[in-house]
Order: sequence, then C-alpha cells, then structure tokens
Amino acid sequence: LTFLGIESSCDDSAAAIVRMNDRAEILSSVVEGQVNLHAEFGGVVPEIAARAHAERLDGCVERAMAEAGVSFAELDGIAVTAGPGLIGGVLSGVMLAKGLAAGTGLPLIGVNHLAGHALTPRLTDGLPFPYLMLLVSGGHCQFLIVSGPDSFRRIGGTIDDAPGEAFDKTAKLLGLPQPGGPAVEAEAALGNPARFVFPRPLLDKPGCDMSFSGLKTALLRTRDTVIAEKGGLTKADRRDLCAGFQTAMVGVLEEKTRRALEVYLEASPAVPALAVAGGVAANTAVRTALEDVCAKASVRFLAPPLRLCTDNAAMIAYAGLERFQMGLRDDANLSARPRWPLDQTAPAMIGSGK
Ligand code: ATP
Ligand code: FE
Repeated sequence: LTFLGIESSCDDSAAAIVRMNDRAEILSSVVEGQVNLHAEFGGVVPEIAARAHAERLDGCVERAMAEAGVSFAELDGIAVTAGPGLIGGVLSGVMLAKGLAAGTGLPLIGVNHLAGHALTPRLTDGLPFPYLMLLVSGGHCQFLIVSGPDSFRRIGGTIDDAPGEAFDKTAKLLGLPQPGGPAVEAEAALGNPARFVFPRPLLDKPGCDMSFSGLKTALLRTRDTVIAEKGGLTKADRRDLCAGFQTAMVGVLEEKTRRALEVYLEASPAVPALAVAGGVAANTAVRTALEDVCAKASVRFLAPPLRLCTDNAAMIAYAGLERFQMGLRDDANLSARPRWPLDQTAPAMIGSGK
C-alpha cells in the first residue's frame, strides 16, 4: 500500500509518500517551513500561513511524488491533516486533498494531526500497542496511552502553556533568537542551575497535569530583579537563568512522566514503552531525564529522529494508512476542524495555543 500525505495545520507546508509492506518505508518527505515569513511578527500570522500553504502545497505534492518516483496510478489513497490547527491552513490542505481524490478516484482519509505525532513510533520502529506517548511541542503537551490507530486515552497534560512555548518566551525575555528551545538549551548548558530556583507547579497535586505559565512569570520577575540590581544582564546571568528554567522544566516533565508510567503500567502491557514526539523532545536534558525514568521502570524509551518528531507529512500518510487498513474512509464531506481533541472523552483543553 502506498499513500500520499498532506500537512498544513501550522507553519509547515508538507507532503510525503509512505509505502507499507511488512514494514513502513518513507519514500519521500518534503517540508517547507515558513519561519522567515513570520519572523518579523514574533509569531505565526494565520492569514500569512494560510496564503503560503495555498501557494506552496501543490509544489510540495509534486516534489514528494517526483522524489518518490511514484505516479497517482501507483497510489492507494490520500491522507490529509483535517485538524486541529489554524483553520485557513487546514482548509488549504483539505481542499487540495479533496480535489486530488475527486480527480483520481483515490480514497480520501482525514487525519488528526496529533494522531500523526502519536503514531510516529510505529512508522519509525513498528512499536506495538499499547504504548505511552508524551507529546511535547510548541503547541501541545500531553500524555496519551495509545492502544490502536484510533484509540487514544489522554491521562494528563498542560493546563496552560506548552513547554516549547515556554522555551520560546524565555528566549524572548532574555533576548535570545527564535525558535527559543535550542538557544535556551545552549545557554543552559553553560550556566549554574542552582543559582535561581524556579517553581515547579502542580508537583504537589496528584495526577499527570502540568502547568508552565507560572514558570515563565517567575523567570520574568527574576530577570527584572537582576536588572534592577545591576542595571542589566551579564552573559553569566543569562546562562544561569536559562539553566534554572530548564532544570525546573525538566523536573516537572520527569516527575509527571513517572506518574504517567504508573497509570500506563497498571494495564500490564506486554512490551512496555514510552515514546516522545514534538520539538521539545530534541532537548538533551529532557531526553536524558526521560531515559532515566524509563530505565528505572524497565520501560523501553523511544525518541524518533527529530525531522519526524516535528511537523511533517510522512506521519500523516502513515496515520492515514493505518486508518485505511482499519476500513476507515472519508468523503467529500470531510471538514476542517480548528479544535479536535484526540481523546473524545477528555475535557476540552484549556489555552492549548494552536
Ligand atoms: P505543534 O506541532 O504542537 O503544533 P510546533 O509546530 O510549534 O507545535 P514543533 O515543531 O514540534 O512544535 O516544535 C517546535 C518547538 O520545539 C518550539 O517551541 C521550539 O522552541 C521547541 N524546541 C526545539 N528544539 C528544542 C530544544 N533543543 N530544547 C527545547 N525546546 C526545543
Ligand atoms: Fe505538530
């Protein structure tokens, strides 16, 4: 089976071809980012993103097909992100996919963007169900027990900011470049994590929910105190602030992951595993902490390569393939959804950003 995947829910226009025989193989994966288009505005501008997707998606699909050396006649279906995300972008992708499906007669499958992330360890490593997924990115932070291609149980997550967002805001507050994660990580590696101790909200509360907005506020206050005392920030101040921030962030993720594993292990999975996805999974301190927690609990730890952790269309093609194999299909009525929780039984997410 061979699928085309299309992704346009945020600021990456992407198309990919994935083939599944006994195992999945990525034949091509094209990602066109838009960071340069939004840089001067300090965030993704929905109107600009929507227009860029509309202009670029055709080209992404053409390139993905050419790089894979595949024609429409060799495809078995078209998968497209139908949400959640910025509605203009999602619509661009859904309209294109509908047009292609109508023109070729191929089956159309709408995919939840978060399902794409959550199923990625199956695309890369064929991970068996059920596994625990920590999705930790610029827009999301949640623990999911994944027990089927369409079966996700959310057992906790952020009640306000996502960790990537907190890294980005921290970078902004300290005058470091965007995206903030890599910049803050680099500074933190040179800093003293014990000089500033930041709060770790919700650690005193049971469960797997997290909160990161207080961390950001504490960082702002501490920064201003240092500036008031010395008239500015030295290199060392900046490094120590980053180190303190990252240590608090890692501390929260570590403890909450320990608790999420307990909930997951109650079901006695045959091959217990924790997989991560999302850009923050690129952070070495985060990774190392999660690896340790897993090692102590005798749980396999899996982090897909970064280009598959962040937004891409290979994960959408793959999720579409899994849905197709379950007999799930969509048609010309497929709608684009700005909000679409993976776990339909979960309460609506508060302030989940995008
Ligand atoms: P989503 O996919 O949830 O809609 P997104 O597209 O913003 O959100 P990703 O592309 O998965 O998310 O990840 C980008 C985020 O990851 C940014 O916030 C970035 O700062 C963060 N990030 C990237 N590298 C690192 C790192 N080394 N340490 C911490 N954070 C990082
Ligand atoms: Fe994403």
